[in-house]
Amino acid sequence: MNQPQQFNRPNQQAETWVISRTDEGFRVYSPADPAKSYIVGGGPDDSTCTCPDFQYHEGDPHWRCKHIQAVLDQLGIKADATARRTGAAGDSE
Ligand SMILES: [Zn+2]
Repeated sequence: MNQPQQFNRPNQQAETWVISRTDEGFRVYSPADPAKSYIVGGGPDDSTCTCPDFQYHEGDPHWRCKHIQAVLDQLGIKADATARRTGAAGDSE
């Protein structure tokens, strides 16, 4: 069946990332392409990434690239679209 395209990246949920901690933040890369690694820094509410995708969306504070998403996912932080604070989970600070 030929369905119309609903999203730009229909396969994004299937992506796997290798994440390792560094002094600057988290180094994120795809096992399929380890030469392209990016650094995700900042906090959950203020994450940054060194990938071109993130630079492109720099003006949008709510936009997260797939690397940031992967790191937040790894940390167990729910990246809700509503961006509500996780009061119930408690702060680890
Ligand atoms: Zn990125």
